[in-house]
Amino acid sequence: NNNRKQLGIALVGLGGYSTNQLAPALQETENCYLAGIVTGTPSKIDDWKKKYDIPDKNVYNYENFDEIANNDDIDIVYVVLPNALHAEYVIRAAKAKKHVICEKPMATNVEDAKRMLDACNENGVQLAIGYRLHFEPYNKRVMELGQQQVFGKVKSITANNSSDMTSKKPNLWRLDKELAGGGSLMDLGIYAVQGAVYTMGEKPVAVAAKYGEVTKPTFFHDVEQSINWELEFEDGVKAKSNSSYAEEQNELSAEAENGWWNVSPAYAYEGKKGETSEGEMDYPNIFEQVNQMDSQAESFRNSEKSIVPGEMGLRDMKILMAIYESANAGGERVV
Ligand code: NDP
Repeated sequence: NNNRKQLGIALVGLGGYSTNQLAPALQETENCYLAGIVTGTPSKIDDWKKKYDIPDKNVYNYENFDEIANNDDIDIVYVVLPNALHAEYVIRAAKAKKHVICEKPMATNVEDAKRMLDACNENGVQLAIGYRLHFEPYNKRVMELGQQQVFGKVKSITANNSSDMTSKKPNLWRLDKELAGGGSLMDLGIYAVQGAVYTMGEKPVAVAAKYGEVTKPTFFHDVEQSINWELEFEDGVKAKSNSSYAEEQNELSAEAENGWWNVSPAYAYEGKKGETSEGEMDYPNIFEQVNQMDSQAESFRNSEKSIVPGEMGLRDMKILMAIYESANAGGERVV
């Protein structure tokens, strides 16, 4: 049955995430497999070809990438480039009539995100975002606890995601506003925004934000080192968040009318742990990118939207940009 065939994925950008997470995950997926690569670094090609048995005809660079339109082995293009390059490659993939998975954050501004969505719609292809946590039991349980009001209505949320990149060797593009679109918020804070929104199951109605102090100016003269913000939901519920490139934080927790929960770490690839007012959360830690790509490939095969569609990426871009707008205005509430 052709409808059951494994879809071929081409990874665009063979950096850390493609190398260490996505390619290994694609060795375990059932609905899709690693069929091709797109890279600007010729020295990477041989290793990838050998390791993953990729034929020459499925290897592209950024110049000849559009020829992928003529390659039936490739059903899905997965864009894993620096944030500011997502828009160009998603749009080129859509024009090549390939379904697209785009890494988070979808883009670096709302306008680009809209153009990406339009291009996919106009070309009749699906667009999904690499929001892996929607395919993982701890975060799925948080969605259920919050949205189904298992402990009554949610009263407040705390969601923090920070990672000290100054103690590691940072990817330089992450410190470059042109390529990254922003600092810790774009890279890490986006998970905390997502966490608050899927705890509530609705969009915030207002945001307020402030930049943190810059204690490491050698790293952070272009993008923010840290930022803290509050999302306000319809009935006054507030989610408080922080994200920083110079400390360690990793939690998603909430207080509800009749109980509470706390997942920490919540956003890491491995070692998630959680507790509720009724006891320990006991779920397996899974290879979530396997589930993510299998689910997205299955949606594409059925011509259905992924549960993390481009529209969700656009929604989140609007929230991230509102957070920056507020922080730039010194903390003013932005509706
Ligand atoms: P890396 O810096 O490790 O890799 C980026 C790759 O993009 C490079 O290796 C290079 O690949 C290619 N590239 C093309 N143009 C440029 C350029 N001008 N500057 C730098 N690299 C360029 O980044 P990551 O893999 O960590 O991140 C890539 C994307 O994935 C980001 O959008 C990030 O937010 C997202 N991500 C998502 C994660 C998740 O958990 N969902 C985790 C980590 C990242 P080549 O040499 O092959 O051309």
